[in-house]
Amino acid sequence: MMKTIAYIYTDPLIDTAPEDEFVGWEIDRTYHDLGQRQQLQQLIADCQQNTPEYLIIRHLQELGDTITEISDRLNQLEALGIEVIATQQNYKSSQSNINIKNNLAQLLQEIQTNKYSRLLQQGHARNRLKNLPPPGKAPYGYRRGKDRYIIDKSTAPVVKDFFEQFLLFGSLRGAVRYLEKRYGKKIAPSTGHKWLTNPVYRGNTKYKNGIIISNTHAAIINQEEAAQIDRLLRRNSLLAPRTASAPRSLAGLVICDYCHLPMTISRVTKRNKKQEYLYLRCHCCPKVPKCKAINYQQILELTINKICQELPIAVKELSQNKPNNIQNNVWTALEEKKAILNQIKELQNQGILDQETADLRSYKLQLEIAQLQAKIAQLPPKDLQAIASTVSLPQFWFDLSEAERRFYFREFIKQIVIIRLSANQWDLKLVFIF
Ligand SMILES: [Zn+2]
Repeated sequence: MMKTIAYIYTDPLIDTAPEDEFVGWEIDRTYHDLGQRQQLQQLIADCQQNTPEYLIIRHLQELGDTITEISDRLNQLEALGIEVIATQQNYKSSQSNINIKNNLAQLLQEIQTNKYSRLLQQGHARNRLKNLPPPGKAPYGYRRGKDRYIIDKSTAPVVKDFFEQFLLFGSLRGAVRYLEKRYGKKIAPSTGHKWLTNPVYRGNTKYKNGIIISNTHAAIINQEEAAQIDRLLRRNSLLAPRTASAPRSLAGLVICDYCHLPMTISRVTKRNKKQEYLYLRCHCCPKVPKCKAINYQQILELTINKICQELPIAVKELSQNKPNNIQNNVWTALEEKKAILNQIKELQNQGILDQETADLRSYKLQLEIAQLQAKIAQLPPKDLQAIASTVSLPQFWFDLSEAERRFYFREFIKQIVIIRLSANQWDLKLVFIF
């Protein structure tokens, strides 16, 4: 004899699968519907044969799609003498006094109002499945096509150029200034930052609920560029705001091993002379006497020599250790998911998958692809070994401008620690980012 049964309805498009919904209840059987209400029909049929005492649900609206449906099913169940309890609403059929009936009327009213937002949510969820762009204006660089964003030939090059500037110099404000100077396009740095992180320019769509679907339209920046942007942004956020766009390549990287303070760059111009001298000084040094200032150029040359010696070794070690395997695994997983995604269209053409199944599967794959791509952005560059052989030549570094050098330093170095050997002798310890 069944005493207590439960019913759960979920819409696979907008609800997450419920778990432990009815803790504390001793439930003999749970009926669960996904998207349709076949189990509810079964439940009602079973109840006519073998009537339980209680039916536990979360919300009354799970009983139907319209107010009429909900009321009818509720009446039908209560007529059998079953007490219906909605755990997440103030509803119990046993308390069938005036107050509760009023309460029911009010609940039904609420359900009516919720229905509209649920319909909207379902509409958006269907758009997601079909990878349709979210409602509203297309982001700068795109326009709205029939079923996807299309690259806007007049504005997309501006966005592309903005990204390239940022990639070259690693400075958000610099790239913003460049845009105004070159194109007369004025944007706030906060807008520029949004561009740099907006999934839309990477060919992905982010929906209001935070879900990102990959490859929904043509990208303006490729995956490697996107990963590099993420690394630069992460590194910049670790640096003090002012040093992030300072023109000197060592700015913000150097730390003194003796007083453990960051070293800042100061400029000294000798009277009546054009030549300027750059020094590194321990910022607010507490030592007595203070740590001695060091010639900037000397440390720069020492850094270049060190990086040429140590980077190839560090990269080699890295490739022998696990991180590279993880890296390869992530890339392999990404390629596999993409291959499966390509097969789905074919399976659909062959009639093996129906439209709905194909849409749902593609949707899930694209979610997984987006997650893998986000993971890749956290890893060191894929072609690290190739890059390492180039950047191990001192000439490569000496040929660069300070801005370019700065950019490359930040690709590899987290910190440069200055070790004072004697008054005029120093050694360096490079801390690589990987
Ligand atoms: Zn010091």
